[in-house]
Amino acid sequence: LDYTSHPDKYDGRMPYNRCGKSGLKLPAISLGLWHNFGKPNSLDMAQAILKNSFDAGITHFDLANNYGPPPGRAEINFGKIFHTHFSNHRHELIISTKAGYLMWDGPYGEWGSRKYILNSLDQSLQRMQLDYVDIFYHHRPDLDTPLEESMGALATAVQQGKALYAGISNYPADKAAEAIKILKEMNTPCLIHQPRYSLLDRGIEDGLTDVLDEHGVGCITFSPLAQGQLTNRYLEGIPANSRAGKKNGFLTVNQVNENIGKVRQLANIADARGQSLAQMALAWTISNPTVTSTLIGASSVKQLQENLKCLNNCEFSHEELALINGIV
Ligand code: NDP
Repeated sequence: LDYTSHPDKYDGRMPYNRCGKSGLKLPAISLGLWHNFGKPNSLDMAQAILKNSFDAGITHFDLANNYGPPPGRAEINFGKIFHTHFSNHRHELIISTKAGYLMWDGPYGEWGSRKYILNSLDQSLQRMQLDYVDIFYHHRPDLDTPLEESMGALATAVQQGKALYAGISNYPADKAAEAIKILKEMNTPCLIHQPRYSLLDRGIEDGLTDVLDEHGVGCITFSPLAQGQLTNRYLEGIPANSRAGKKNGFLTVNQVNENIGKVRQLANIADARGQSLAQMALAWTISNPTVTSTLIGASSVKQLQENLKCLNNCEFSHEELALINGIV
């Protein structure tokens, strides 16, 4: 192994928050591998982002079966990097994956059957060359499959030792409450929910955070920068190398154009706080008391380092919050 992690990585700069009422703590900022870890991204850059993250105290890396492109590639690349540089640190890392979206052709390649979920986890472990993941999620609700079956598959994964904890993602408040109850009855408490949350998407405040608080379930929020919109990335137009500039379809030029007016106003507030817009947007999600961790993406080490500095100021005055609420 050619990598020695930073000796000061646990020096207190990164807060670790308890995940609901569980025994597990997660870093206030976690790193997601949805973009920038597939093909044709450079493995050198991927490796540098992972090492810089861990050096800064980010102990949690989030994956899913379908992250790529092509689907599965992010897990393969992560596995290679992990075994080359991180394998001495397995006990210090929380590695998660998910199943729910389309992974292979035929009737068993997506959604929520026991067949799909458990076969998918086996494939993920194979791709990453791991014996277990720390958190295994059902990635999206499946209204055509009994919830008991999908949750039963997560419980089995935990009983088999292939996952340490179970989680759900993209479940609306009512379905989340049901899933949490079923998992509890199966003696596999739901550790965490992974919903989208940012200054441009506050949907979780309409009931979901109440459900999670009531049941002591953690919350890790994804796309806190609205895929890069809540940064200075698009203030001067759409750069060709940006997520909206590329043709992957997840962030469209239309979305950016619709939001840019709000984004400019938010940038002024960030400026007055002495933060970049990205830093303020992250600080804002972290300051929500239900949020255990906020899950960022980065296409460069420079972005990661800028974003980590949000930890220097996660406090908001009443006046600032009133201004923000007036915009979003
Ligand atoms: P973000 O909202 O943090 O967006 C990250 C992107 O924003 C980067 O890849 C980069 O895009 C841009 N960016 C980041 N920092 C800066 C900066 N300082 N200045 C300018 N641009 C910046 O999160 P993601 O949408 O990437 O999601 C994060 C993670 O959440 C995913 O990796 C995944 O693990 C998880 N997720 C889960 C989902 C689920 O269904 N459970 C769905 C979506 C995400 P670029 O440079 O390419 O323009």
